[in-house]
Amino acid sequence: EQERLIMDAGDIARALTRVAHEILERNKGVKDLALVGIRTGGVHLAHRLAKRIQEIEQAPVPIGDLDITLYRDDLSLRKEQPVLRTTSVPFDVSDKIVVLVDDVLFTGRTIRAAMDGLMDLGRPAEIQLAVLVDRGHRQLPIKANYIGKNLPTSRDEQVQVLLEEAGEDDRVVILKS
Ligand code: 5GP
Ligand code: MG
Repeated sequence: EQERLIMDAGDIARALTRVAHEILERNKGVKDLALVGIRTGGVHLAHRLAKRIQEIEQAPVPIGDLDITLYRDDLSLRKEQPVLRTTSVPFDVSDKIVVLVDDVLFTGRTIRAAMDGLMDLGRPAEIQLAVLVDRGHRQLPIKANYIGKNLPTSRDEQVQVLLEEAGEDDRVVILKS
């Protein structure tokens, strides 16, 4: 199995700093802004973005998280469906600009489930999407507003996002079997 380094710690830090600035630029500051990370990688990244946003704007941004797991039901033995398991969103999403945050965007099915889950909680003014890596292969009309790195992959490749919060040295690698 081959492993190729795609982003090192500095690359990740700079990408997140850029994305924090892009979020603030697009939304003209933190008013009505909230971040919702998708467990587990997306939650770590949401906290890193919130820290940067707070440093830039001197104002806090609320953070929540969604736990979306793959679920295999009897009707779809071949295809696993991402379903919302738990939510921890300690603020009212109504009228907020909610930025979903995830580590890797692939088919888009997880984000679809996340949007469904969010809209069950209230009526956001807008939902945006930030991802560290967009690896392509979308199966739904979903697109990220903020992208750390576009990484064209083949379907059988696997992207690993390793983060300090999980006890690793920060890096993104691609695995080829
Ligand atoms: P999707 O639902 O878009 O197919 O997949 C996105 C979700 O699955 C994300 O939460 C992401 O963490 C995970 N995922 C999909 N492909 C990869 C990958 O190649 N590497 C990693 N680390 N996660 C992936
Ligand atoms: Mg994930």
